[in-house]
Amino acid sequence: MKPNIVVIGSLNMDMVVQAPRLPVMGETLLGKSMQFVPGGKGANQAIGLARLGAEVAMIGRVGKDHFGSELLSSLQAGWVNSTGVKNTESAETGAASIVLAEGDNIIIVVPGANARCTPADIETQIELIERADIVLMQLEIPLATVTYAAKVAKQLQKTVILNPAPAQKLPPELLACVDYMTPNETELAILAEGQTGLEECMDAILTQGVRHVITTLGAQGAAYKEKGKTLLRIPGHQVPVVDTTGAGDAFNVGLAYAIGCGHALPDAISFANKVAAVSVGRFGAQQGMPTLEEVVHFSE
Ligand code: ATP
Repeated sequence: MKPNIVVIGSLNMDMVVQAPRLPVMGETLLGKSMQFVPGGKGANQAIGLARLGAEVAMIGRVGKDHFGSELLSSLQAGWVNSTGVKNTESAETGAASIVLAEGDNIIIVVPGANARCTPADIETQIELIERADIVLMQLEIPLATVTYAAKVAKQLQKTVILNPAPAQKLPPELLACVDYMTPNETELAILAEGQTGLEECMDAILTQGVRHVITTLGAQGAAYKEKGKTLLRIPGHQVPVVDTTGAGDAFNVGLAYAIGCGHALPDAISFANKVAAVSVGRFGAQQGMPTLEEVVHFSE
């Protein structure tokens, strides 16, 4: 049985410039190359899930412009049901300006149409949520929309996974609906408001009503915790790194897919570490997402 997952989130066109070094303020540099690639955490995760073989639908917004049409086509080419992605006249498609240089980067995201994804959009696409087993969200669309979608999903008894990126203070009514939250270490520190130490920070989030917290730890893998249970770590994989952009997206893809397949949490995290390890060995967030076969045959 294929897991049926609805991703509610952002779609961006990423303009990626490769430069010999990062410019200083006011400087003009000659770059090496420029590429336009589909991105946005929502779209990355939707494409990644479809590549693993899940049944995926996406809910979001693009502008009524050239980038918007390209992003919709790229979802369709990636076997994602895009009927829940609406055009908006009042804003342009979300875009990210990314400069890569000497292994470092500068990124500016302009949310554009993503900021116009409203609770009313969730209401009109409720059928997609009804059909799904899992609702997977991030924080690149308005918090009010994420909160509303999480409440609707819970009322419909769906599993809610929240990748809290970019991190921001979250309302209690959202936290109460989250089954699995997947911060990285930076996001964890922001969400845990003043706590220090991995376990203490995770406990602080569990106390706010989230059922499971899974913290990604880069090459170290991930740690997870349920309320009242001990913290467990699932190690990552030693792989040659090509591009870690989208490692977090790949992890969420693997986790949601494995949970949707009915795997126990430690196995699901182990699978997610593998999906992410394959993805860091390749260039690009969406391009780097592996197929199920590639994950199954993965070895360090
Ligand atoms: P990003 O923002 O780059 O998408 P992130 O900061 O959200 O990533 P990380 O904790 O860095 O998330 O990585 C997510 C997962 O990717 C890790 O839990 C691990 O499974 C995998 N991963 C990340 N970096 C590496 C690495 N260097 N080698 C192997 N696996 C990695």
